Amino acid sequence: MAVIKKRPAAIKLYNTLTRKKEIFRPDKIGVGLYTCGPTVYNYMHIGNLRTYVFEDIMRRALEYAGYNVRHVMNITDVDDKIIRDAQAANESIFDFIKPYEKAFLQDLQKLNIEKAWKYTKATEHIKEMVALIQKLLKKKMAYVGADGSVYFNISSFKSYGRLSRLKSDQIKSGTRALNHQDEYTKDNVQDFSLWKAKKEKEPSWSAPFGEGRPGWHIECSAMSMKYLGETFDIHGGAVDLIFPHHENEIAQSEGATGKSFARFFVEGEHLLVNGEKMSKSLGNFFTLRDIQAKRVDPLAFRYLALTAHYRTKLNFTWESLAAAEQSLDRLRDFVRNIPGGKKSSQSGYASLVLYRANFEKAIYDDLDTPKAIAEVWKLIRAANSAKSRYDSNELRKLFIDFDRVLGLGLAKVKKETIPARALQLANEREAYRKQKAWAEADALRKEIESLGYAVADAPEGPRIKKLPR
Ligand code: AMP
Ligand code: ZN
Repeated sequence: MAVIKKRPAAIKLYNTLTRKKEIFRPDKIGVGLYTCGPTVYNYMHIGNLRTYVFEDIMRRALEYAGYNVRHVMNITDVDDKIIRDAQAANESIFDFIKPYEKAFLQDLQKLNIEKAWKYTKATEHIKEMVALIQKLLKKKMAYVGADGSVYFNISSFKSYGRLSRLKSDQIKSGTRALNHQDEYTKDNVQDFSLWKAKKEKEPSWSAPFGEGRPGWHIECSAMSMKYLGETFDIHGGAVDLIFPHHENEIAQSEGATGKSFARFFVEGEHLLVNGEKMSKSLGNFFTLRDIQAKRVDPLAFRYLALTAHYRTKLNFTWESLAAAEQSLDRLRDFVRNIPGGKKSSQSGYASLVLYRANFEKAIYDDLDTPKAIAEVWKLIRAANSAKSRYDSNELRKLFIDFDRVLGLGLAKVKKETIPARALQLANEREAYRKQKAWAEADALRKEIESLGYAVADAPEGPRIKKLPR
C-alpha cells in the first residue's frame, strides 16, 4: 500500500523582515533553522535561557507540524571577553571555555531543550570565515583598514538597515557608540570589523589578508551557510541581536552570495528583573544553578517562560517562579493520576478533538504558548469535573502530544510511590496543623524534607512530592 505522507501544517511566524505574521509553509519538509548561541565565558543566565527555550518551542512546533528541522547553533569560543578572562585565569581560550561550554549544554538538557543537529564552534570554522571575507574583499565590499583589520563597507550594500529599519543617522549614532575605539581606523564609522588584526598575546590565525581573528558577526554567516545553504528558512535570536548582529549577518552573506539569506528572522523578547533587562553587565542576573540551589525544578523555569508569549517582555520574580512550579506540579499530578474511563462518550471524543485543534491553532499562530497552556488547563478542569466522559488512555495520549511541543517532561511522569514513613509523618503533621501546633508541624516538615520529600498544603489535604535533587 502506498504510504500517504501528510503535508506539514502551515505555521504563522512573526517575521522581523516584514514586521508581519507570515505563513511559514516551505515546499519541502526539511527546514533549516539557525539560532545564535552563547559566548561561553561564563554561566548562562536565565535571560539567555529564555531565548533558548523560545527557540526550542519554535523547533518543536515545526516538528509537531510535520517538518524535519535541521537546527544549527553556534558557540562563540573566541572574542574579547573570552580572551580577557582567559588571560586573567592564565589559561588558553580553549581550556578556559571548557567548563562553561559543558555547563551550557547541561543547562539546555535540564530545560528539556532538544539537542541541535550541530553546535558549531567559531574556532573550528576559521577557514570558512576567511573564504567569505576574501569573497567580500574581491567584490570590494570589504577593505583592509589602517590598523590591518578587515572591515565591511556598509555603503556597498544598498539594503543595509532593511531588517532593523534604522535610518542612516540612527545607524551612525548606534555604531559610533559600539565602535568608538576603532573610529580612526576605518573609512566610515558605521563599518564593522570582519577580521581583527593580531594583537600582542592574543590568539590568532593566519589569513591571506593578515594574521588575526574573526569578528563576531562573520562566524554566524559562515557557519549558517556552510550547514544550511546560502539561503535557508529561519534565523532566530533575541531582539537585541536585530541590530547590529543580524543586520550585519545579512549584509555579509547577501553581499557575498548575491542571494537572499534567511527567509524569516524570528526574535524573542527579553527577560527582565525589576523592569530592566537581565544582563551580566547590570549584575541583575540569576543562573539555573541559583534556581536549583533553592531546590526549584529547572522545568519550572521552562513553564514560567511558556506563560508569556515570546514577543512580550517577561519580568522575572521568585514568586512567579514558585507559582509556575506549583502549576507544573499540578499538571504532573493530573497526568500521574489521569482520570477517565475505558471509552470516551461521543461528546467526550468530540471535545478531545476540539481541544487538540485549539491547542494546535494557538501554537501555529506565532507560537502562542500562553493560549495553548490555557487550553490545557481548560481540559484539565473539564476532565476533573466529568470523569467518565473521557477514555483515560486517549486523554493521556493527548497530554503527551501537547508535551511534544511544551517539553515539560510529561511523558516521563510515573506513578510515584511515597515511602510509608514520609506518609506517616505527613499525617502526623496534618494532625498538628489542625491543632494549630505550628512548631511541631514545622519540625515534622523538616523531617519529611530530610527524607527527600516536600509537603504542600492543598484544599484536598497534604500533597507529598519528591524534592528535586
Ligand atoms: P549574550 O551572552 O549576552 O551574547 O547573550 C546570548 C543570547 O541571549 C543572545 O541571543 C542574547 O540576545 C540573549 N539574551 C541576553 N540577555 C537576555 C535577556 N535578558 N532576555 C532574553 N534573552 C537575552
Ligand atoms: Zn549570530
